[in-house]
Amino acid sequence: MTAKIISGTETAKAIREELKIEIAELQEKHNVVPGLVTILVGEDPASQSYVTAKNKTAHALGIHSEQVTLAADSSEQELLNLIEKYNNDEKIHGILVQLPLPKHINEAKVLYAINPDKDVDGFHPVNVGKMVLGEQCYLPCTPHGILELLTRSGVKTSGAEVVVIGRSNIVGKPISNLMLQKRDGGNATVTICHTRTKDMAAHTRRADIIIAAVGVPKMVTADMVKDGVVIIDVGVNRIGKTADGKAILAGDVDFDAVKEKAAAITPVPGGVGPMTITMLMKNTVQAAKQAAGLI
Ligand code: NAP
Repeated sequence: MTAKIISGTETAKAIREELKIEIAELQEKHNVVPGLVTILVGEDPASQSYVTAKNKTAHALGIHSEQVTLAADSSEQELLNLIEKYNNDEKIHGILVQLPLPKHINEAKVLYAINPDKDVDGFHPVNVGKMVLGEQCYLPCTPHGILELLTRSGVKTSGAEVVVIGRSNIVGKPISNLMLQKRDGGNATVTICHTRTKDMAAHTRRADIIIAAVGVPKMVTADMVKDGVVIIDVGVNRIGKTADGKAILAGDVDFDAVKEKAAAITPVPGGVGPMTITMLMKNTVQAAKQAAGLI
């Protein structure tokens, strides 16, 4: 069996087309233009490229976007003041602070300062709490993207054995919780593996769906999966450089070997990655609609 490739690039493109129409209608019918601000502290090249991509995507969809960069030695208070300014700015519906922050700034304090109604990254404890309770909230972008990929690819989750590898606050924990929720796209039996898990392969071998969010290149090998498994590979690992200096990326799954056993698999790049930014845009549109009392 050679797996069906679940393309994040194609799925993200389809969702962006839907968003473009929704955004144009919002402006025409309700005079609402969704607004997003991205805040970056410092000059980390990877973070710079992420915020640039976010602003570029926002712009292409018709979202008003602002990009603020603070010097790496800016104080925590300066950042908190900036967040407060955007909390009170009616043109801005979504505030994204690019992580990681420099070590002298308390990340939790900063994330908690964002008005939960503008927390389009879904990291504020109010949104995390609502997610766990199954209430309407902003879902964190990467797990939200995974749900969309599974649903739009027609993968049945109800009753499925799902094994999530990784328990981070941004991927592993939220996606485990979302797969567990009593609703369409959830209803799975979920096992979460991490560095203290004994005999991980014993868990992964009985999985109908494996979601790998580890950060270890090609860790999930063909002998660890059963025939017909569905694989969502969240990992983005730089394993070298091409002759012209571009990063060579690998996921957490040994794609070439595992695709011969899997029913469906996401590639790296072109899998979960493009979905994450798209879900940020979707959350920003949701924020604008909420602020306008439309949902
Ligand atoms: P993280 O915070 O470093 O968490 C990694 C998790 O994997 C931890 O829970 C850790 O367990 C577990 N782990 C690490 N090595 C392991 C091993 N050998 N065996 C079993 N478990 C192991 O990472 P993250 O932020 O969740 O990101 C994970 C990967 O996804 C990274 O490659 C990252 O770049 C990628 N990512 C991609 C996107 C996207 O949009 N495509 C978004 C976010 C992240 P412990 O808790 O026990 O330490």
